Amino acid sequence: MLNILFSAKPTAWEEYRDHLTGAFEAASLNANLSRDHDPATVDYIIFVPNGPVTDFAPYTKTKAVMSLWAGVETVVSNQTLTQPLLRMVDPGLTNGMVEWVVGHTMRHHLGMDDHIHCQDGVWRDTVYPPFAAQRPVTILGIGALGAACGQALVQLGFPVTGWSRSPKTVEGITCLSGKDELKEALTDASMVILLLPNTPQTRNILNAETLDLLADGAFVINPGRGPLINDDALLSALASGKVRHATLDVFHVEPLPAEHPYWAHPNVTVTPHIASTTRPDSAAKVIVQQILRGEAGEPFLHAVDRQAGY
Ligand code: NAP
Repeated sequence: MLNILFSAKPTAWEEYRDHLTGAFEAASLNANLSRDHDPATVDYIIFVPNGPVTDFAPYTKTKAVMSLWAGVETVVSNQTLTQPLLRMVDPGLTNGMVEWVVGHTMRHHLGMDDHIHCQDGVWRDTVYPPFAAQRPVTILGIGALGAACGQALVQLGFPVTGWSRSPKTVEGITCLSGKDELKEALTDASMVILLLPNTPQTRNILNAETLDLLADGAFVINPGRGPLINDDALLSALASGKVRHATLDVFHVEPLPAEHPYWAHPNVTVTPHIASTTRPDSAAKVIVQQILRGEAGEPFLHAVDRQAGY
């Protein structure tokens, strides 16, 4: 019998419990899922950073800590965590992100706001948007989420450039990597989508200098993490027209304080960190897959590189 500790808020327990027990049964996994195991007996921890476990030292037998979140910046530097840390790559989470990114990209690409906010009785039939093929999109971060979003945008005809830390090949996407190729990735981009993790290397990656590389009137879409953007630089770029509109889902401080200039800015759309979330039904199957790998002595999937921070 495997002891599996669920360390998250009580609301998450309600959402996940039945999906997890169902997935364990379907895989014939003999698992005792609980929110309250003796630490020394725990085989696996299902983990969310805002849950009860903050000290991993007593979990001496634990084979893996499985995050329910894709972003692990709040746990990756926890000194008590010596067990393998696995980040969540969930098909449901990915689907949700693809839909959110495609939706907001198409809103800006088609200029939908002009019609939604201008129902004034004037028949303006003269303005057509360019085709997607004329609107270069750059995605910073082409991991699980960025690559899927990029491929969906390629299907719609956008020329997509992706940028990552290590060299990659993603079908349909022009792939660039490393600091030296960031300038090329951003130069003349009409739409920038941020899907990087929050690490010391990625913070403020969109700053005065890098924003200046974009095409005039570019759009910025950030479902990644707030600290990827220097807010003052983005507000300046919005004021000058360099950036026409920013759709922001994530912020330096969340919830975004009511007095923050983003809330009232006519060219900023604030969404409250809802771009996508892990879906309990599909995530439960991912967790089972990881446990089966662990029990078979196979390497875990999506293990966090502590050094890299994600
Ligand atoms: P992932 O698979 O780890 O992909 C991260 C990507 O960023 C990879 O392509 C990686 O490069 C690249 N990267 C990391 N550090 C870099 C650096 N210093 N320079 C250049 N590229 C760098 O992560 P994911 O699952 O796609 O998730 C991405 C992020 O989305 C998460 O970390 C989280 O912050 C955010 N997120 C937000 C929401 C929301 O609702 N708003 C939901 C889920 C996730 P390599 O390919 O070379 O490793």
